[in-house]
Amino acid sequence: MDSIFTKIINKEISSEIQYEDELCIAINDVNPKSKIHILVIPKKPIENINYASDSDKEILGHLMLVCQKLAKKLQIDEEGYQILTNVGEGGGQTVMHLHFHLLSGNTLTM
Ligand code: AMP
Repeated sequence: MDSIFTKIINKEISSEIQYEDELCIAINDVNPKSKIHILVIPKKPIENINYASDSDKEILGHLMLVCQKLAKKLQIDEEGYQILTNVGEGGGQTVMHLHFHLLSGNTLTM
């Protein structure tokens, strides 16, 4: 299940990397919907949260903590931010590789 994010993870196409470790990569969204718009992407190609299993607990927790650390690094932790994941076409997902959007600057309302 390769997507454009596989190519980004493998450095086959360039991106603005905010953070990277053995489990994930965080990049600036190419089409930002807010002042800060970062995608936190696991290196394991899980299609979306529907396809995560108990064995992915460490990865999922790690992604949340990377969002938290990026928010601190970018000094948006006090003002507030959003973490969002789209699930499936009906949920607005366009890239079929799990990712969390970290958004700050103009809050999406529910
Ligand atoms: P989603 O619609 O939730 O699947 O989010 C996919 C996101 O990936 C969108 O916000 C796109 O702007 C973003 N995106 C697509 N291609 C790239 C790319 N090459 N580099 C960075 N972000 C991308």
